[in-house]
Amino acid sequence: MDREKFRKYGYQLIDWVADYLETVEKHPVKSTVQPGEIKAKLPPSPPHHPEEMDRILDDFEKIILPGITHWEHPGWFAYFPANNSPASILGELLSAGLGTQGMVWQTSPAATELEEVVMDWLRQMIGLPEGWAGVIQDTASTATLCALLAAREKITGFKVNEAGFDSPLRVYASREAHSSVEKGVKIAGFGRKNLVYIPADDELAMIPGELEQAIEKDLGNGLQPACVIATVGTTSSGAVDPLKPIGEICQKYGLWLHVDAAYAGTATILPEKRWALDGAELADSLVFNPHKWMLTNFDCSAFFVKDPQVLTRTFEIHPEYLKTGVDAVVKNFRDWGIQLGRRFRALKLWFVLRNYGVEGIKKIIRRHIHLAELFRDELQQDGRFEIMAPVYFSLVCFRLKAGRPEEELNELNRRLLEEVNSTGRLFMTHTTLNGKYTLRLVVGQRTTEERHVRQALEIIKQKASELLASG
Ligand SMILES: *Cc1c(COP(=O)(O)O)cnc(C)c1O
Repeated sequence: MDREKFRKYGYQLIDWVADYLETVEKHPVKSTVQPGEIKAKLPPSPPHHPEEMDRILDDFEKIILPGITHWEHPGWFAYFPANNSPASILGELLSAGLGTQGMVWQTSPAATELEEVVMDWLRQMIGLPEGWAGVIQDTASTATLCALLAAREKITGFKVNEAGFDSPLRVYASREAHSSVEKGVKIAGFGRKNLVYIPADDELAMIPGELEQAIEKDLGNGLQPACVIATVGTTSSGAVDPLKPIGEICQKYGLWLHVDAAYAGTATILPEKRWALDGAELADSLVFNPHKWMLTNFDCSAFFVKDPQVLTRTFEIHPEYLKTGVDAVVKNFRDWGIQLGRRFRALKLWFVLRNYGVEGIKKIIRRHIHLAELFRDELQQDGRFEIMAPVYFSLVCFRLKAGRPEEELNELNRRLLEEVNSTGRLFMTHTTLNGKYTLRLVVGQRTTEERHVRQALEIIKQKASELLASG
Protein backbone atom coordinates (compact mmCIF):
# COMPACT_ATOMS: atom_id res chain seq x y z
CA MET A 1 0.00 0.00 0.00
CA ASP A 2 1.54 3.29 -0.99
CA ARG A 3 1.37 6.34 1.26
CA GLU A 4 -1.47 7.98 -0.64
CA LYS A 5 -3.61 4.90 -0.27
CA PHE A 6 -2.71 4.54 3.38
CA ARG A 7 -3.94 8.08 3.99
CA LYS A 8 -7.05 7.56 1.91
CA TYR A 9 -8.12 4.34 3.62
CA GLY A 10 -6.97 5.64 6.98
CA TYR A 11 -9.36 8.61 6.79
CA GLN A 12 -12.05 6.37 5.36
CA LEU A 13 -11.77 3.88 8.22
CA ILE A 14 -11.87 6.55 10.92
CA ASP A 15 -15.07 7.78 9.28
CA TRP A 16 -16.33 4.21 9.20
CA VAL A 17 -15.68 3.74 12.94
CA ALA A 18 -17.26 7.12 13.76
CA ASP A 19 -20.37 6.22 11.73
CA TYR A 20 -20.44 2.77 13.29
CA LEU A 21 -20.44 4.13 16.83
CA GLU A 22 -23.19 6.60 15.94
CA THR A 23 -25.41 4.02 14.24
CA VAL A 24 -24.59 0.79 16.07
CA GLU A 25 -28.17 0.68 17.41
CA LYS A 26 -29.47 -0.32 13.99
CA HIS A 27 -27.78 -3.73 14.31
CA PRO A 28 -29.15 -6.61 16.37
CA VAL A 29 -26.95 -6.65 19.49
CA LYS A 30 -26.09 -10.32 19.18
CA SER A 31 -24.99 -11.65 15.83
CA THR A 32 -27.62 -13.89 14.27
CA VAL A 33 -25.29 -16.02 12.11
CA GLN A 34 -25.26 -19.80 12.45
CA PRO A 35 -22.13 -21.78 13.39
CA GLY A 36 -19.87 -22.16 10.32
CA GLU A 37 -21.69 -19.48 8.33
CA ILE A 38 -18.77 -17.01 8.30
CA LYS A 39 -16.13 -19.65 7.55
CA ALA A 40 -18.17 -20.89 4.61
CA LYS A 41 -17.89 -17.46 3.01
CA LEU A 42 -14.10 -17.30 3.30
CA PRO A 43 -11.63 -18.96 0.93
CA PRO A 44 -9.89 -21.99 2.44
CA SER A 45 -6.43 -20.91 1.31
CA PRO A 46 -4.61 -17.55 1.35
CA PRO A 47 -4.59 -15.21 -1.66
CA HIS A 48 -1.58 -15.60 -3.95
CA HIS A 49 -1.64 -12.07 -5.26
CA PRO A 50 -2.14 -8.64 -3.71
CA GLU A 51 -5.72 -7.49 -3.40
CA GLU A 52 -7.05 -3.96 -3.42
CA MET A 53 -8.22 -2.45 -0.13
CA ASP A 54 -11.60 -1.66 -1.72
CA ARG A 55 -12.27 -5.35 -2.16
CA ILE A 56 -11.02 -6.22 1.30
CA LEU A 57 -13.22 -3.56 2.91
CA ASP A 58 -16.15 -4.66 0.82
CA ASP A 59 -15.76 -8.19 2.13
CA PHE A 60 -15.38 -6.84 5.64
CA GLU A 61 -18.85 -5.30 5.37
CA LYS A 62 -20.42 -8.26 3.59
CA ILE A 63 -18.82 -11.20 5.38
CA ILE A 64 -17.37 -10.07 8.70
CA LEU A 65 -19.82 -7.46 9.96
CA PRO A 66 -22.84 -9.84 10.08
CA GLY A 67 -20.75 -12.06 12.35
CA ILE A 68 -20.08 -9.26 14.83
CA THR A 69 -21.84 -9.15 18.18
CA HIS A 70 -22.02 -5.49 19.04
CA TRP A 71 -20.39 -4.90 22.41
CA GLU A 72 -20.63 -1.13 21.86
CA HIS A 73 -24.41 -1.28 21.37
CA PRO A 74 -26.25 0.67 24.09
CA GLY A 75 -28.50 -2.40 24.46
CA TRP A 76 -25.52 -4.42 25.69
CA PHE A 77 -26.49 -5.84 29.08
CA ALA A 78 -24.71 -9.21 28.81
CA TYR A 79 -21.75 -10.71 30.74
CA PHE A 80 -19.86 -7.62 31.81
CA PRO A 81 -19.28 -4.78 29.35
CA ALA A 82 -16.12 -4.38 27.28
CA ASN A 83 -16.14 -0.66 26.86
CA ASN A 84 -14.28 1.54 24.50
CA SER A 85 -14.40 5.27 23.91
CA PRO A 86 -13.23 7.65 21.20
CA ALA A 87 -10.13 8.54 23.25
CA SER A 88 -9.27 4.88 23.73
CA ILE A 89 -9.70 4.02 20.06
CA LEU A 90 -7.35 6.84 19.05
CA GLY A 91 -4.78 5.72 21.62
CA GLU A 92 -4.99 2.18 20.25
CA LEU A 93 -4.56 3.50 16.72
CA LEU A 94 -1.42 5.39 17.70
CA SER A 95 -0.06 2.36 19.48
CA ALA A 96 -0.53 0.28 16.33
CA GLY A 97 1.04 3.04 14.25
CA LEU A 98 4.10 3.16 16.46
CA GLY A 99 4.29 -0.61 16.49
CA THR A 100 5.99 -0.43 19.86
CA GLN A 101 7.04 -3.59 21.60
CA GLY A 102 7.88 -2.58 25.14
CA MET A 103 9.56 -5.66 26.58
CA VAL A 104 12.34 -3.70 28.31
CA TRP A 105 12.86 -0.04 29.13
CA GLN A 106 15.16 0.74 26.21
CA THR A 107 12.78 -0.75 23.63
CA SER A 108 10.69 2.38 24.29
CA PRO A 109 11.39 4.24 27.51
CA ALA A 110 8.09 6.12 27.19
CA ALA A 111 6.10 2.88 27.09
CA THR A 112 7.56 1.78 30.41
CA GLU A 113 7.48 5.14 32.14
CA LEU A 114 4.00 6.09 30.97
CA GLU A 115 2.78 2.70 32.20
CA GLU A 116 4.35 3.36 35.61
CA VAL A 117 2.68 6.75 35.81
CA VAL A 118 -0.84 5.79 34.65
CA MET A 119 -0.82 2.74 36.88
CA ASP A 120 0.07 4.96 39.79
CA TRP A 121 -2.83 7.25 38.83
CA LEU A 122 -5.15 4.24 38.91
CA ARG A 123 -3.69 3.19 42.28
CA GLN A 124 -4.62 6.56 43.70
CA MET A 125 -8.07 6.47 42.08
CA ILE A 126 -9.03 3.20 43.80
CA GLY A 127 -7.26 4.14 47.03
CA LEU A 128 -4.50 1.56 47.34
CA PRO A 129 -1.66 2.52 49.69
CA GLU A 130 1.45 4.27 48.44
CA GLY A 131 4.25 1.86 47.60
CA TRP A 132 2.01 -0.57 45.74
CA ALA A 133 3.14 -0.82 42.13
CA GLY A 134 1.12 -1.58 39.02
CA VAL A 135 1.63 -3.28 35.70
CA ILE A 136 -0.76 -3.72 32.80
CA GLN A 137 -1.61 -7.33 31.98
CA ASP A 138 -3.69 -8.50 29.06
CA THR A 139 -6.52 -9.90 31.20
CA ALA A 140 -7.59 -10.52 34.77
CA SER A 141 -7.07 -14.22 34.13
CA THR A 142 -3.39 -13.60 33.47
CA ALA A 143 -3.08 -11.26 36.47
CA THR A 144 -4.60 -13.88 38.76
CA LEU A 145 -2.24 -16.50 37.36
CA CYS A 146 0.70 -14.16 38.06
CA ALA A 147 -0.56 -13.68 41.62
CA LEU A 148 -0.80 -17.45 42.10
CA LEU A 149 2.74 -17.93 40.79
CA ALA A 150 4.12 -15.18 43.03
CA ALA A 151 2.26 -16.65 46.02
CA ARG A 152 3.67 -20.07 45.22
CA GLU A 153 7.22 -18.72 45.14
CA LYS A 154 6.89 -16.51 48.21
CA ILE A 155 5.48 -19.28 50.39
CA THR A 156 8.20 -21.75 49.31
CA GLY A 157 11.13 -19.32 49.43
CA PHE A 158 11.28 -19.39 45.59
CA LYS A 159 11.91 -23.15 45.58
CA VAL A 160 9.22 -24.30 43.14
CA ASN A 161 10.84 -22.18 40.44
CA GLU A 162 14.05 -24.12 41.09
CA ALA A 163 13.00 -27.64 41.81
CA GLY A 164 9.27 -27.98 41.21
CA PHE A 165 6.69 -28.90 43.86
CA ASP A 166 7.75 -31.23 46.62
CA SER A 167 4.47 -31.08 48.51
CA PRO A 168 0.99 -29.79 47.74
CA LEU A 169 0.08 -26.15 48.37
CA ARG A 170 -3.51 -25.12 49.04
CA VAL A 171 -5.45 -22.25 47.49
CA TYR A 172 -8.76 -20.92 48.82
CA ALA A 173 -11.50 -19.02 47.04
CA SER A 174 -15.21 -18.50 47.46
CA ARG A 175 -17.54 -20.92 45.75
CA GLU A 176 -18.61 -17.87 43.70
CA ALA A 177 -15.07 -17.07 42.44
CA HIS A 178 -14.47 -16.67 38.71
CA SER A 179 -13.42 -19.68 36.63
CA SER A 180 -10.06 -17.98 35.98
CA VAL A 181 -9.09 -18.99 39.53
CA GLU A 182 -9.52 -22.66 38.72
CA LYS A 183 -7.68 -22.17 35.43
CA GLY A 184 -4.80 -20.38 37.18
CA VAL A 185 -4.56 -23.09 39.84
CA LYS A 186 -4.30 -25.71 37.09
CA ILE A 187 -1.68 -23.84 35.06
CA ALA A 188 0.44 -22.84 38.08
CA GLY A 189 0.75 -26.49 39.04
CA PHE A 190 -1.18 -26.45 42.31
CA GLY A 191 -3.62 -29.02 40.96
CA ARG A 192 -7.35 -28.55 40.94
CA LYS A 193 -7.86 -30.76 43.95
CA ASN A 194 -5.83 -28.27 46.01
CA LEU A 195 -8.30 -25.49 45.27
CA VAL A 196 -10.58 -25.31 48.29
CA TYR A 197 -13.95 -23.65 47.72
CA ILE A 198 -15.24 -21.74 50.73
CA PRO A 199 -18.98 -21.49 51.32
CA ALA A 200 -20.74 -18.17 50.78
CA ASP A 201 -23.40 -16.44 52.88
CA ASP A 202 -26.94 -15.45 51.85
CA GLU A 203 -25.53 -12.49 49.91
CA LEU A 204 -23.09 -14.85 48.12
CA ALA A 205 -19.98 -13.46 49.84
CA MET A 206 -17.22 -15.65 51.26
CA ILE A 207 -17.71 -16.52 54.95
CA PRO A 208 -14.42 -15.67 56.72
CA GLY A 209 -15.09 -18.14 59.56
CA GLU A 210 -15.41 -20.94 57.01
CA LEU A 211 -12.11 -19.86 55.45
CA GLU A 212 -10.31 -20.05 58.77
CA GLN A 213 -11.81 -23.48 59.48
CA ALA A 214 -10.65 -24.77 56.10
CA ILE A 215 -7.12 -23.47 56.73
CA GLU A 216 -7.05 -25.08 60.19
CA LYS A 217 -8.32 -28.35 58.78
CA ASP A 218 -5.59 -28.38 56.12
CA LEU A 219 -2.90 -27.57 58.68
CA GLY A 220 -4.21 -30.41 60.84
CA ASN A 221 -3.82 -32.73 57.84
CA GLY A 222 -0.26 -31.58 57.17
CA LEU A 223 -1.19 -29.58 54.05
CA GLN A 224 0.39 -26.19 53.41
CA PRO A 225 -1.96 -23.22 52.83
CA ALA A 226 -0.51 -20.72 50.32
CA CYS A 227 -2.98 -18.28 48.83
CA VAL A 228 -6.48 -16.88 49.24
CA ILE A 229 -8.33 -15.26 46.36
CA ALA A 230 -11.11 -12.88 47.33
CA THR A 231 -13.56 -11.44 44.83
CA VAL A 232 -14.94 -7.92 44.88
CA GLY A 233 -17.90 -8.03 42.52
CA THR A 234 -18.41 -11.67 41.57
CA THR A 235 -19.26 -12.44 37.98
CA SER A 236 -22.48 -14.26 38.78
CA SER A 237 -24.03 -11.75 41.15
CA GLY A 238 -21.67 -8.87 42.03
CA ALA A 239 -21.10 -10.20 45.56
CA VAL A 240 -18.30 -8.69 47.64
CA ASP A 241 -16.08 -10.89 49.79
CA PRO A 242 -15.25 -9.00 53.03
CA LEU A 243 -11.57 -8.12 52.58
CA LYS A 244 -10.85 -6.95 56.11
CA PRO A 245 -11.60 -10.19 58.01
CA ILE A 246 -10.21 -12.27 55.12
CA GLY A 247 -7.03 -10.15 55.12
CA GLU A 248 -6.64 -10.56 58.86
CA ILE A 249 -6.87 -14.34 58.50
CA CYS A 250 -4.26 -14.24 55.72
CA GLN A 251 -1.92 -12.21 57.92
CA LYS A 252 -2.43 -14.56 60.86
CA TYR A 253 -1.44 -17.60 58.77
CA GLY A 254 1.10 -15.87 56.51
CA LEU A 255 -0.89 -16.40 53.29
CA TRP A 256 -0.90 -14.40 50.07
CA LEU A 257 -4.17 -12.54 49.50
CA HIS A 258 -5.10 -11.72 45.93
CA VAL A 259 -8.16 -9.57 45.22
CA ASP A 260 -10.07 -10.12 41.98
CA ALA A 261 -12.04 -6.92 41.35
CA ALA A 262 -12.11 -7.35 37.57
CA TYR A 263 -15.47 -5.66 37.03
CA ALA A 264 -16.26 -3.78 40.25
CA GLY A 265 -12.81 -2.26 40.75
CA THR A 266 -13.78 0.62 38.50
CA ALA A 267 -16.74 1.50 40.76
CA THR A 268 -14.43 1.90 43.75
CA ILE A 269 -13.22 5.24 42.38
CA LEU A 270 -16.58 6.51 43.71
CA PRO A 271 -16.38 7.50 47.40
CA GLU A 272 -19.78 5.84 47.97
CA LYS A 273 -18.48 2.50 46.61
CA ARG A 274 -14.99 2.53 48.10
CA TRP A 275 -16.24 0.38 51.01
CA ALA A 276 -15.95 -2.60 48.68
CA LEU A 277 -12.14 -2.35 48.90
CA ASP A 278 -11.98 -1.77 52.67
CA GLY A 279 -9.21 -4.08 53.81
CA ALA A 280 -7.47 -4.19 50.41
CA GLU A 281 -4.43 -2.71 52.15
CA LEU A 282 -4.06 -6.13 53.83
CA ALA A 283 -3.82 -7.86 50.45
CA ASP A 284 -0.69 -8.69 48.45
CA SER A 285 -2.12 -8.14 44.99
CA LEU A 286 -5.22 -6.87 43.24
CA VAL A 287 -6.55 -6.82 39.71
CA PHE A 288 -9.25 -4.79 38.01
CA ASN A 289 -10.08 -4.32 34.35
CA PRO A 290 -10.20 -0.86 32.79
CA HIS A 291 -11.19 -2.88 29.71
CA LYS A 292 -14.45 -3.79 31.36
CA TRP A 293 -15.92 -0.64 32.78
CA MET A 294 -13.36 2.17 32.45
CA LEU A 295 -13.88 3.16 28.82
CA THR A 296 -10.64 1.54 27.63
CA ASN A 297 -10.93 -0.96 24.84
CA PHE A 298 -9.87 -4.56 25.34
CA ASP A 299 -7.24 -5.50 26.41
CA CYS A 300 -6.12 -3.58 29.47
CA SER A 301 -6.06 -5.17 32.90
CA ALA A 302 -4.57 -3.31 35.89
CA PHE A 303 -2.56 -5.56 38.20
CA PHE A 304 -1.16 -4.19 41.47
CA VAL A 305 1.26 -5.74 43.94
CA LYS A 306 2.28 -4.65 47.39
CA ASP A 307 5.85 -5.95 47.03
CA PRO A 308 7.01 -5.86 43.42
CA GLN A 309 10.23 -7.67 44.32
CA VAL A 310 8.35 -10.89 44.95
CA LEU A 311 6.77 -10.59 41.54
CA THR A 312 9.98 -9.83 39.69
CA ARG A 313 11.90 -12.53 41.54
CA THR A 314 9.22 -14.97 40.42
CA PHE A 315 9.45 -14.02 36.76
CA GLU A 316 12.92 -12.62 36.13
CA ILE A 317 15.23 -14.11 33.56
CA HIS A 318 18.60 -12.77 32.47
CA PRO A 319 19.57 -14.02 29.04
CA GLU A 320 22.58 -12.22 27.66
CA TYR A 321 20.69 -10.87 24.65
CA LEU A 322 18.23 -8.96 26.84
CA LYS A 323 20.77 -7.27 29.12
CA THR A 324 21.08 -3.50 28.92
CA GLY A 325 23.30 -0.94 30.62
CA VAL A 326 20.42 0.62 32.57
CA ASP A 327 18.88 -2.53 34.06
CA ALA A 328 19.82 -1.46 37.58
CA VAL A 329 17.93 1.82 37.43
CA VAL A 330 14.83 1.15 35.31
CA LYS A 331 11.80 -1.13 35.32
CA ASN A 332 11.86 -3.89 32.75
CA PHE A 333 8.26 -4.98 32.60
CA ARG A 334 9.22 -8.29 30.99
CA ASP A 335 9.92 -9.39 34.58
CA TRP A 336 6.46 -8.41 35.82
CA GLY A 337 4.53 -11.16 34.11
CA ILE A 338 4.50 -14.11 31.75
CA GLN A 339 5.08 -12.65 28.33
CA LEU A 340 8.30 -11.10 27.08
CA GLY A 341 6.94 -8.84 24.34
CA ARG A 342 4.43 -6.24 25.45
CA ARG A 343 1.93 -4.01 23.72
CA PHE A 344 1.94 -0.25 24.46
CA ARG A 345 -1.39 -0.32 26.28
CA ALA A 346 -0.62 2.59 28.60
CA LEU A 347 -1.15 4.99 25.73
CA LYS A 348 -4.88 4.35 25.34
CA LEU A 349 -5.35 4.38 29.12
CA TRP A 350 -3.55 7.73 29.33
CA PHE A 351 -5.78 9.14 26.59
CA VAL A 352 -8.88 7.96 28.46
CA LEU A 353 -7.81 9.26 31.87
CA ARG A 354 -6.93 12.65 30.43
CA ASN A 355 -9.80 13.01 28.02
CA TYR A 356 -12.48 12.13 30.58
CA GLY A 357 -10.71 13.13 33.77
CA VAL A 358 -11.52 11.25 36.96
CA GLU A 359 -14.71 13.28 37.35
CA GLY A 360 -15.88 12.42 33.85
CA ILE A 361 -15.39 8.70 34.48
CA LYS A 362 -17.18 8.93 37.82
CA LYS A 363 -20.15 10.57 36.18
CA ILE A 364 -20.55 7.73 33.69
CA ILE A 365 -20.13 4.99 36.35
CA ARG A 366 -22.68 6.73 38.58
CA ARG A 367 -25.15 6.90 35.70
CA HIS A 368 -24.78 3.16 35.10
CA ILE A 369 -25.30 2.34 38.78
CA HIS A 370 -28.31 4.63 38.93
CA LEU A 371 -29.83 2.96 35.86
CA ALA A 372 -29.29 -0.51 37.33
CA GLU A 373 -31.09 0.61 40.49
CA LEU A 374 -33.91 2.02 38.41
CA PHE A 375 -34.21 -1.31 36.56
CA ARG A 376 -34.28 -3.21 39.86
CA ASP A 377 -36.93 -0.90 41.36
CA GLU A 378 -39.18 -1.13 38.31
CA LEU A 379 -38.96 -4.93 38.24
CA GLN A 380 -39.76 -5.06 41.93
CA GLN A 381 -42.84 -2.92 41.41
CA ASP A 382 -44.07 -5.27 38.70
CA GLY A 383 -44.53 -7.99 41.32
CA ARG A 384 -44.00 -10.96 38.99
CA PHE A 385 -40.23 -10.82 39.28
CA GLU A 386 -37.85 -11.77 42.05
CA ILE A 387 -34.54 -9.95 42.67
CA MET A 388 -31.97 -12.68 43.32
CA ALA A 389 -29.04 -10.77 44.84
CA PRO A 390 -28.27 -7.34 46.28
CA VAL A 391 -27.43 -4.71 43.67
CA TYR A 392 -24.17 -3.14 44.83
CA PHE A 393 -22.93 -1.96 41.45
CA SER A 394 -24.61 -2.09 38.03
CA LEU A 395 -25.52 -5.79 37.85
CA VAL A 396 -29.10 -6.89 38.52
CA CYS A 397 -29.84 -10.60 39.02
CA PHE A 398 -33.51 -11.51 38.71
CA ARG A 399 -35.99 -14.10 37.54
CA LEU A 400 -39.60 -14.30 36.52
CA LYS A 401 -41.64 -16.03 39.20
CA ALA A 402 -45.29 -14.99 38.86
CA GLY A 403 -46.40 -17.50 41.47
CA ARG A 404 -45.37 -20.46 39.32
CA PRO A 405 -44.08 -23.61 41.08
CA GLU A 406 -40.31 -23.71 41.70
CA GLU A 407 -39.76 -26.69 39.35
CA GLU A 408 -41.08 -24.68 36.37
CA LEU A 409 -38.98 -21.59 36.98
CA ASN A 410 -35.65 -22.63 35.47
CA GLU A 411 -37.25 -23.53 32.16
CA LEU A 412 -39.54 -20.49 32.21
CA ASN A 413 -36.59 -18.13 32.66
CA ARG A 414 -34.46 -19.91 30.10
CA ARG A 415 -37.25 -19.33 27.60
CA LEU A 416 -37.68 -15.73 28.70
CA LEU A 417 -33.99 -15.04 28.07
CA GLU A 418 -34.21 -16.61 24.62
CA GLU A 419 -37.29 -14.58 23.71
CA VAL A 420 -35.82 -11.31 24.96
CA ASN A 421 -32.50 -11.77 23.17
CA SER A 422 -34.18 -12.82 19.94
CA THR A 423 -35.62 -9.30 19.61
CA GLY A 424 -32.08 -8.09 18.82
CA ARG A 425 -32.78 -4.92 20.79
CA LEU A 426 -30.84 -5.99 23.84
CA PHE A 427 -28.56 -8.80 24.95
CA MET A 428 -28.56 -10.30 28.44
CA THR A 429 -26.98 -13.49 29.78
CA HIS A 430 -27.68 -15.82 32.69
CA THR A 431 -26.11 -17.62 35.61
CA THR A 432 -27.28 -19.96 38.33
CA LEU A 433 -27.47 -18.80 41.94
CA ASN A 434 -27.97 -21.58 44.48
CA GLY A 435 -29.14 -23.81 41.65
CA LYS A 436 -31.69 -21.30 40.41
CA TYR A 437 -31.54 -20.17 36.77
CA THR A 438 -31.03 -16.41 37.04
CA LEU A 439 -31.06 -13.64 34.46
CA ARG A 440 -28.30 -11.03 34.63
CA LEU A 441 -28.67 -7.49 33.37
CA VAL A 442 -25.53 -5.35 33.58
CA VAL A 443 -25.62 -1.66 32.75
CA GLY A 444 -22.15 -0.60 31.70
CA GLN A 445 -21.95 0.29 28.04
CA ARG A 446 -20.68 3.85 27.65
CA THR A 447 -23.66 5.09 25.65
CA THR A 448 -26.45 3.31 27.53
CA GLU A 449 -29.09 5.82 28.64
CA GLU A 450 -32.34 5.67 30.55
CA ARG A 451 -34.33 5.08 27.38
CA HIS A 452 -32.37 1.88 26.66
CA VAL A 453 -32.99 0.56 30.14
CA ARG A 454 -36.69 1.44 29.90
CA GLN A 455 -36.88 -0.29 26.54
CA ALA A 456 -35.24 -3.37 28.06
CA LEU A 457 -37.82 -3.32 30.87
CA GLU A 458 -40.67 -3.06 28.42
CA ILE A 459 -39.41 -5.95 26.31
CA ILE A 460 -38.77 -8.15 29.34
CA LYS A 461 -42.23 -7.46 30.77
CA GLN A 462 -43.95 -8.00 27.44
CA LYS A 463 -42.15 -11.27 26.74
CA ALA A 464 -42.94 -12.38 30.28
CA SER A 465 -46.65 -11.69 29.71
CA GLU A 466 -46.61 -13.63 26.45
CA LEU A 467 -44.84 -16.61 28.03
CA LEU A 468 -47.20 -16.69 31.00
CA ALA A 469 -50.23 -16.45 28.72
CA SER A 470 -49.01 -19.34 26.54
CA GLY A 471 -49.03 -21.62 29.59
C1 LIG B 1 -14.43 -10.87 33.85
C2 LIG B 1 -13.86 -11.43 35.08
C3 LIG B 1 -12.64 -12.12 35.07
C4 LIG B 1 -11.91 -12.46 33.80
O1 LIG B 1 -11.56 -11.35 33.08
P1 LIG B 1 -10.54 -11.43 31.85
O2 LIG B 1 -9.89 -10.09 31.88
O3 LIG B 1 -11.38 -11.66 30.65
O4 LIG B 1 -9.60 -12.54 32.10
C5 LIG B 1 -12.12 -12.53 36.26
N1 LIG B 1 -12.75 -12.30 37.42
C6 LIG B 1 -13.94 -11.67 37.48
C7 LIG B 1 -14.59 -11.44 38.81
C8 LIG B 1 -14.53 -11.21 36.31
O5 LIG B 1 -15.71 -10.60 36.36
